Amino acid sequence: MRVDKSGAAGRSAATRESARLFAEASRVIPGGVNSPVRAFNSVGGTPRFITKASGYLLTDADANTYVDLVCSWGPMLLGHAHPAIVEAVQRVAADGLSFGAPTPAETELAREIIDRVAPVELLRFVNSGTEATMSAIRLARGFTGRPKIVKFSGCYHGHSDALLADAGSGVATLGLPSSPGVTGAAAADTIVLPFNDVAAVEALFAEHGDQIACVISEAAAGNMGTVAPAPGYNAALRRITAEHGALLILDEVMTGFRVSRSGWFGVDGVAADLVTFGKVMSGGLPAAAFGGRAEVMQRLAPLGPVYQAGTLSGNPVAMAAGLATLRAADDAAYATVDANADKLADLLTSALTEASVAHRVSRAGNMLSVFFSDAPVTDYASAKATDTWRFPPFFHALLAAGVYPPCSAYETWFVSAALDDNAFDRIAAALPAAAKAAAEAEKLA
Ligand SMILES: *Cc1c(COP(=O)(O)O)cnc(C)c1O
Repeated sequence: MRVDKSGAAGRSAATRESARLFAEASRVIPGGVNSPVRAFNSVGGTPRFITKASGYLLTDADANTYVDLVCSWGPMLLGHAHPAIVEAVQRVAADGLSFGAPTPAETELAREIIDRVAPVELLRFVNSGTEATMSAIRLARGFTGRPKIVKFSGCYHGHSDALLADAGSGVATLGLPSSPGVTGAAAADTIVLPFNDVAAVEALFAEHGDQIACVISEAAAGNMGTVAPAPGYNAALRRITAEHGALLILDEVMTGFRVSRSGWFGVDGVAADLVTFGKVMSGGLPAAAFGGRAEVMQRLAPLGPVYQAGTLSGNPVAMAAGLATLRAADDAAYATVDANADKLADLLTSALTEASVAHRVSRAGNMLSVFFSDAPVTDYASAKATDTWRFPPFFHALLAAGVYPPCSAYETWFVSAALDDNAFDRIAAALPAAAKAAAEAEKLA
């Protein structure tokens, strides 16, 4: 792939074709998109319609190119159209796309995951992260015979009814649905607590401990921007849940096989009862999984009474993509991704410092995001208190210069192993103007 070092290839502001495609899409798809963040609502402007991608480079319908810092919201750890992964997908697809019967590849990918993540003894594949967490919650309730679940404000676990509940404040709130269409009944057993607040968890369990089936947390939060768990936080969740006979579910849909070869478990070593995976696990095809202690997983049908199923679950093409991805994601790949995250963080820090913009580059391993604030961000409340209004002009200046960051201040930036010197040259060239745009941003009333 050839990249113009000056970044000029991405500097064209032409969005005619994307605008036309967006208008056309909007006539048949609500908002023109199949996942809301893609509509650019929080930054404005025309969502770019992507026509192809290779390595670190995205190409849109107007032939603009972008250094990709989203990586499909995480999955593309090794970059786009990685030859080994494309080859595996093509080879397997030629032998048939779906059988509705077991295939050897499911065992191979399950084995690869279990070998990497010690607390996982048995694993089941599903089709999305949403399904993985929803199923894990059902299993936790079925295993414990208890109704209530605890989640943390600002943590995203997909869009199942019980997990959309979100208090958004420092107070434990019982059963507030945060989306129309989620009934009070569906959310009534969801208790929302602030992230990184062990005392709140202790207090809740002291009062309702025998009612709580599980605590679910992002192993490191990436859906309120990147917010790492405080040292000892996940271990405290482990201790408190165990003391009260509740299960701990660590959601590694984002962190799994991204922040290390064994995900966030490889960072802090906290062994959950159940773990959920997605994103990197399936290399860009739709598959996800949940797994954990054998004693718990054995309660799933057909061994046990907790029902869970899927027509396309364990799909052979998705399994092939996942297996090829994990086999290529070796120690060298993780070292490269980590080094690339360090380089990006350094470039962001120096450009924003140069432009005198108060900011923090928040890190959880090789995941990062930019918060416009002097104050530390440790939970959803502090994330929301940042100067998010600086983000849209910052975003658009980068986009205009051929760099594609996430289109929301509350999303994580993802680097791949494919970023090279040309990519970093383009990012470095784009950042001063973007930092200036952030500095000059005006807060809307
Ligand atoms: C993306 C994500 C999900 C949802 O996964 P989908 O495949 O989009 O349904 C769940 N949990 C976390 C932590 C995620 O980042």
